[in-house]
Amino acid sequence: MSIKNTKGLTERDSKHLWHPYTQHKTAAKPIGIVKGEGALLWDENGKEYIDAIASWWVNPYGHSNKHVADAIYKQLTSLEHVLFGGFTHEPAVVLSEKLVEILPSSQKKMFFSDNGSTAVEVAIKVALQYYFNKGEKRTKILAFEEAFHGDTFAAMAASGISFFTEAFKGSLVEVVRVPVPVKGEEEKSLATIKKLAATGEYAAFIFEPLVQGAAGMVMYEPQALDNLIKVCKEYGVFTIADEVMTGFGKTGKIFACDYLTVEPDMMCLSKALTAGTIPMAITTFTEELFEGFYDDDINKALFHGHTFTANPTGCAAALAGLELLLTDEMKANLTRINASHLDFIAEIEKHPRVINARVLGVIMAFEIERDGNESYYGDFRNKLYNFFIENGVILRPVGNIIYILPPYIISNELLTKVYDVVKQAIDEIV
Ligand SMILES: *Cc1c(COP(=O)(O)O)cnc(C)c1O
Repeated sequence: MSIKNTKGLTERDSKHLWHPYTQHKTAAKPIGIVKGEGALLWDENGKEYIDAIASWWVNPYGHSNKHVADAIYKQLTSLEHVLFGGFTHEPAVVLSEKLVEILPSSQKKMFFSDNGSTAVEVAIKVALQYYFNKGEKRTKILAFEEAFHGDTFAAMAASGISFFTEAFKGSLVEVVRVPVPVKGEEEKSLATIKKLAATGEYAAFIFEPLVQGAAGMVMYEPQALDNLIKVCKEYGVFTIADEVMTGFGKTGKIFACDYLTVEPDMMCLSKALTAGTIPMAITTFTEELFEGFYDDDINKALFHGHTFTANPTGCAAALAGLELLLTDEMKANLTRINASHLDFIAEIEKHPRVINARVLGVIMAFEIERDGNESYYGDFRNKLYNFFIENGVILRPVGNIIYILPPYIISNELLTKVYDVVKQAIDEIV
């Protein structure tokens, strides 16, 4: 594949642009990407990369997917946008109908916003205002340690990765931490939530179901989460499943909550929702939550909204993405990648420094045993990252954790190349 040489993006970028999670003084210059197709990306010099993290977990069906692009084009040329205050449109109505078919049966209402953080923001505001409307004083939130729920204020408050949030400590919603029920910690986690929930001070418990993405794909069992949710239900603490990362097939089922025997009160969806194209998010609710705002008194309404709420083009992209997700072909891809991951970890687990190898759906992760404490964006992590980039594979290790979360359409050949580069990194760097 030949790519026109459009030199200069990297240099021109630094004149005006400010990048996410980047210390510009010390970071390497960004790579100028000019094309994406399937699981591949090309930079301005024609170098090819395998997108082994689906561009931050958003892209399940491949870059520049024609089915999705056609749906977007069709929508853009019939109704690109209309305000959602006082108006509605077919893409939003149909999307709500399709989602209700695949969501846990308790989820009946949905509210649109623009990204994962706003989906969380809406969920937390709804929990707090529900109790405010009822005249009950519940102003605190429960969340896991090392959680990540986004970067707006309420989402940041719920996030437990300290260097993301340290500068804003004094200005946040009050959040109390619950230990993650990873193997061996289940009892401690359950005891903590029992004690806290029983105080009646908490409006909600927010969690990343089964996999904590930004913490480095930390995994725990459905049974453990079931138990925590049951306690919350007993004490009137609403449960918020933040499926922004896990949603739409990543865990092998459509939602991570599909592994549970109990259902959450709210769910947050974004990232893969629009097949990796247009920023959009949805928070879903039970009827009970909606009814907490349904009143003759206008003050009890949810006074939240965004200019582009339920953008028809975003909805059209989401509908096209759902069509792809529900095909037999895509289900076969999920099974295929999961089986490959399991074979791969069986192999690397033999390495003396590889520990905690784990797989759920298309997500695989393992840790490299280190002498020192590896920081999130530390030197060791950077060495690994640079090695992967030099070898044409996009992976973003978290400290000493390496994870792979490829687009579902990745071929066996490309997936094998990703594994080979990871093995090489273990041999050469560790
Ligand atoms: C990425 C992520 C968010 C934040 O989404 P943005 O679109 O980046 O605001 C929230 N929750 C989880 C679990 C995420 O992975």
